Amino acid sequence: MYENILIPTDGSKTANVAVEHAVDLAAKYGATVHALYVVDPDWLAYSLGSEQLDRIRQGNIGEMDELEADAAEATGVVADAAREKDIEVVEAVRGGTPHKIITTYADSNDIDLVVIGSHGRSGVRRALLGSVTERVLRSTHLPVLVVDEQRED
Ligand code: ATP
Ligand code: MN
Repeated sequence: MYENILIPTDGSKTANVAVEHAVDLAAKYGATVHALYVVDPDWLAYSLGSEQLDRIRQGNIGEMDELEADAAEATGVVADAAREKDIEVVEAVRGGTPHKIITTYADSNDIDLVVIGSHGRSGVRRALLGSVTERVLRSTHLPVLVVDEQRED
């Protein structure tokens, strides 16, 4: 049923709870887990120059050490959890608008299930769902498992 499971992660606590679900399902189905971290230029609008922001918008995040470290930390959580269970893992980092990159990645990598957190690192709890998750749900036909951090069992 599931061969390629996508876990988009922003490194947040909720995303890391979603990782546990993704990895558990991957182990049961013998699936590959894809960890995708999207560098969103809008997060960085105040901390980077316009040249760097344009590079990220074009999908090029190379040679930006700090961004790469954040990305590697987030996807590394998935990689570590997967290796513990002998699951194949693909780590991917892209620059751009998160929900667009997530759905494009899913379409071009034979993804058959997306496992995503209900909220992310902005941590605002007013909304039922974070905006990235809401937009992913609206823009994909794939099954999506939304994991809330309060339900850890
Ligand atoms: P908002 O961003 O709307 O202020 P939020 O940060 O609480 O709210 P989302 O950004 O929608 O909520 O995060 C929900 C889930 O979406 C995360 O747990 C993670 O799985 C995924 N996600 C969010 N941002 C990214 C990103 N930049 N790259 C990859 N996955 C992401
Ligand atoms: Mn967010």
